[in-house]
Amino acid sequence: MIEKKIVLHFPKEMVDKPIVFRLVKDFDLEFNILKAEVNPREEGVLVLSLKGEEENYNKGINYLKNEGVRVQPLSQDISMDKDRCVSCTVCIPLCPTQAFVKDEKNFEVNFIKDKCIACGICILACPYRAMKLSF
Ligand code: SF4
Ligand code: SF4
Repeated sequence: MIEKKIVLHFPKEMVDKPIVFRLVKDFDLEFNILKAEVNPREEGVLVLSLKGEEENYNKGINYLKNEGVRVQPLSQDISMDKDRCVSCTVCIPLCPTQAFVKDEKNFEVNFIKDKCIACGICILACPYRAMKLSF
């Protein structure tokens, strides 16, 4: 039995499709939706925890990929380039886990890395390309 946290990215028109429920029915997996968002690129983002037998898990992931879903593990590392960030606040309402906080004293936007689940929304949204994915 394995359990992993993953991020699913899919086109907006697929948001209402019951693809995740097929994971339960066809692959005997359990899931727990941690976050569901539609990001500025009109892409649905679903953060979920997926649990089941390893073989079924792998089949379920392949099923998602064949349906056109981009599957990303939550192990990637996001960082903020403070030299690029101008504290424009665009990222604050977009982050599903409130990982950006505005310091009311100096008006700077701070990145709280511990809260970040590496969904990638801020990387696409930041107009100054201040958010980066490091491997
Ligand atoms: S969107 Fe980019 S530049 Fe604006 S506050 Fe967020 S990280 Fe900084
Ligand atoms: S990748 Fe960006 S938007 Fe996503 S959780 Fe981390 S800080 Fe928030």
